[in-house]
Amino acid sequence: MTGRTDYVHVPRAIEDPYCPTSVPMYQTATFGQSRADGFDEFDYSRSGNPTRRVLEDQLARIEHGTSAYAFSSGMAAISAVVRLCRAGDEVLVGDESYGGTIRLLREIAPRLGLTARAVDTTCPKRVAASITDRTRLLLLETPSNPTLRITDLAAMSSIARQRGIILAVDNTMLSPWLQNPLDHGADVVVHSATKHLNGHGDVTAGAVCTSRADLAGSIAFIQNAEGAALGPFDSWLLLRGLATLPLRLEAQQRSAGLIADWLADHAAVAEVFYPTLPTHPGLDIQRRQARGGGCVISVRTGSPETARHIVERTRLFRTTVSFGCISSSISLPRCMSHACVDAGSGGLGARPVPPDLVRLSVGIEDPNDLIADLDRALRPVVQAAATRVPSPARTGAGTDG
Ligand SMILES: *Cc1c(COP(=O)(O)O)cnc(C)c1O
Repeated sequence: MTGRTDYVHVPRAIEDPYCPTSVPMYQTATFGQSRADGFDEFDYSRSGNPTRRVLEDQLARIEHGTSAYAFSSGMAAISAVVRLCRAGDEVLVGDESYGGTIRLLREIAPRLGLTARAVDTTCPKRVAASITDRTRLLLLETPSNPTLRITDLAAMSSIARQRGIILAVDNTMLSPWLQNPLDHGADVVVHSATKHLNGHGDVTAGAVCTSRADLAGSIAFIQNAEGAALGPFDSWLLLRGLATLPLRLEAQQRSAGLIADWLADHAAVAEVFYPTLPTHPGLDIQRRQARGGGCVISVRTGSPETARHIVERTRLFRTTVSFGCISSSISLPRCMSHACVDAGSGGLGARPVPPDLVRLSVGIEDPNDLIADLDRALRPVVQAAATRVPSPARTGAGTDG
């Protein structure tokens, strides 16, 4: 297990005569070669860059892998993993996955000759029954985005191993500080580093981590051949963000736990999704494979209008897509991060996002200020409910899909 110290002290991969405290940014596209008929360690930044190399070594280390590759976005990283498949192969994807992942598999995968199907990965039997001779990759999130469903990673890994398929886990939601899927048998971990890993809302980036030499070689080849590697400046910013990941996440998770408890008792909230609430169906699995519930909470409000009003009324929780930033945010997944899921999920079979769902990402602000902000936004809902009979706050809870 990597500790806080490992996040701060980055193994120094590059020689530098001045012993800099911060990893220097090698903002250069090319490197001079000592000979014309052979390469030194670095020649061209698409293929390799010293700043990116330090970042990639650090990503591998904190994710308990042997290799990692930094990409220009989370989608570029996921796309590289999908490229491990060949025409004719089939991809199984968690039926609740990030909207962009669903879109990639629905719209782009068929152009590569791949088929994709969504499967409920919270049910190992269903996953085992869905695998065919053509299945090559199982890609899933746990907790899933946006209703935080928990998948048993050890169960998935044992199925994947038995059937000879690649298990890739999108670990964006918890980050390596709270969960290390490679330790539970995953072959590949992907990240949208835009979220927790960077944490400051100023970089779009992605990562692929693995301990399998064969897959590492393929991902390295794809990264160089397709050219979606992360640039030096973004690599440098991401390195800076990573150093404080444990501090940020511990503070965010503590506040998220308080806020989840507070919401669970609130009259304007029909249902709260947070992986470590005692009512969460995945609680035991979550305790086994993760170190907490993270900083994302989703709630059902009973009606899409109520959901929209809450999202638009908060002030500290700003209306933005994304999560994992030091500042809190709030969103309507159905209309924002997951808008493309319902724009014709095609034959994929993705799980519809409830229209009354609000997703909160808890930042590092004072939790009392955050609760006061939510209280102000929720109070009119309770007041409106009190003037009507029966209470509309709890009647529309079953509007799924
Ligand atoms: C945001 C996100 C992605 C996509 O990452 P980008 O950096 O936006 O390309 C993938 N998976 C999950 C779970 C995400 O939240």
